[in-house]
Amino acid sequence: MTKFIVVAGGVMSGVGKGVTTASIARILMEYGYNVAPIKIDPYINYDAGTLRPTEHGEVWVTDDGGEIDQDLGTYERFLDINIPKNNNITTGQIYKTIIDRERKGKYLGQTVQFIPHVPDEIKRRIREAGKDNDIVIVEIGGTIGDYENIPYLFAMKSLEREIGKENVVYVLVTYLPIPSHIEEMKTKPTQQAIRLLGETGIFPDFIICRAKIALDKIRKKKIETYANIPSTHVISEPDIDTVYSIPLDLEKEQLGLKILNELKLKPKKHSNWNDWKNLVNKIKHPKKHVKVAIVGKYIDIGDYNLADSYVSINQSLLHAGAALNVGVDINWLDAKIFENSPKKINDLKKFNGIIVPGGFGSSGVEGKIKAINFSRLNNKPYLGLCYGLQLAIVEYARNVCKMGNANTTENNEKTKFPVIDILPTQKEIMEKSDYGATMRLGAYAAVLKENSKVLKLYKETNRLKEDMKMIEKLKKDKSQKFRLGILNKSKNIVLERHRHRYEVNPKFVDQLEKKGLVFSGYHLREDNTKLMEYIELPNHKSFISTQAHPEFKSRLGNPSPLFYGFVKACAK
Ligand code: GLN
Repeated sequence: MTKFIVVAGGVMSGVGKGVTTASIARILMEYGYNVAPIKIDPYINYDAGTLRPTEHGEVWVTDDGGEIDQDLGTYERFLDINIPKNNNITTGQIYKTIIDRERKGKYLGQTVQFIPHVPDEIKRRIREAGKDNDIVIVEIGGTIGDYENIPYLFAMKSLEREIGKENVVYVLVTYLPIPSHIEEMKTKPTQQAIRLLGETGIFPDFIICRAKIALDKIRKKKIETYANIPSTHVISEPDIDTVYSIPLDLEKEQLGLKILNELKLKPKKHSNWNDWKNLVNKIKHPKKHVKVAIVGKYIDIGDYNLADSYVSINQSLLHAGAALNVGVDINWLDAKIFENSPKKINDLKKFNGIIVPGGFGSSGVEGKIKAINFSRLNNKPYLGLCYGLQLAIVEYARNVCKMGNANTTENNEKTKFPVIDILPTQKEIMEKSDYGATMRLGAYAAVLKENSKVLKLYKETNRLKEDMKMIEKLKKDKSQKFRLGILNKSKNIVLERHRHRYEVNPKFVDQLEKKGLVFSGYHLREDNTKLMEYIELPNHKSFISTQAHPEFKSRLGNPSPLFYGFVKACAK
């Protein structure tokens, strides 16, 4: 029987519900259980694909091509598993399914109503996403009291009635403020959140208390008396320097065993946190530091959401650093400064390495190309991600192959040398679609070149073996098999996730190769179109780029090969 944990948030948003959910899941995995995390986003967007990253943070991409809220990324980074898009549920999906069914006459004349049809569809999706797992952990987005999460709380209560309370645990994550004028931690907002949750018929089994510092006994007792929750079930989660210490902190209060006990389960194995602790320790006290510049387009963002728009890159550098015992100091540079004051390019000298991340549109493009040119000429480690590969090709075409105004047609439609372009089949998809999902999305196989630097990195991090296993699985999955393309019996195949429209133009590959650019991996589509996936320069300290977004497959304890190679080169 699958057991369920429901995580909801009280008091305010942004206190770390996602990280708490991921930590609980990680803890239960440590006790030997299969855990499926599910994120509910109560907004009406069908998925996160059309959301502005500056408002909502970076869009997460799954293996099966879903464009999802960042929380799924947090889960993957903590759990080191690939989570499919069905593990994200939005109100848009619920209503779309119901209305589509109604239009097809599937309700056989019934009046389609909020109750029971909406909660039924919610439960159906949760069960479907969680099937074959021991424990399903459902994080309900938003804050208790929001109108939009009421249907989900209602659905969970109804699920509880169907399967029995002993199979469901409710966790409420709250925040305890310490107003500066009184310097005392206040429990009142938490008490009110508990009462508000009670209005839906749900009483929390555990309260996780986010706060600047840990709760003292008096505060815990207060919550016990006012809200009737034993103080042993009131768990502190104070601010910390790295989110990866949270599972360790929660385990200090034996949260895992307490939850298992509530679900009438026993640990299947002893938990072992040694490797995790070791990595956390390296994050906190690295032996060495490197300085990395990320040259991107930040102009419309302001200071606040910046890091959030590239959270996966941030995390990938952290994971690679933890594996190598290196702290990576990240500096966000606006590409436009190199356009407005060309001399500023020399500021890049002080960095150990340069990254050009993914991006869209023409803003800052020339500045990024200047930064890439600087890395290439000065033997500075360079990592290009998606747009970062495309612009590295533009740079090489212009300055080495002497193709004057070479460009991507995203930036200049009329260029004589469209080295990056939309391929004809992609055009078809775009013409047919109403915007959402016109991109190459999700995991695609790439065949890697023998003796390439890229292949070496996938071997060194053990990723090649892992991916070859995944490929065997994909071969059996009818709906996803197209992601493999034509493999030509290669033994060096890897899988990375994509999110882009433009591709390296096959017409220019020969000329670029002749001038020394190495294409170290490609995807061969079933229609025989070759899509270039990796490039590298053989006589450079480390100049590697990929059309993919390897940052979506980086986990603590299992870093992304390209980030690993980049940080290693920076530290040399
Ligand atoms: N704008 C480019 C494209 O659509 C790159 C996208 C990206 O970096 N994710 O192909």
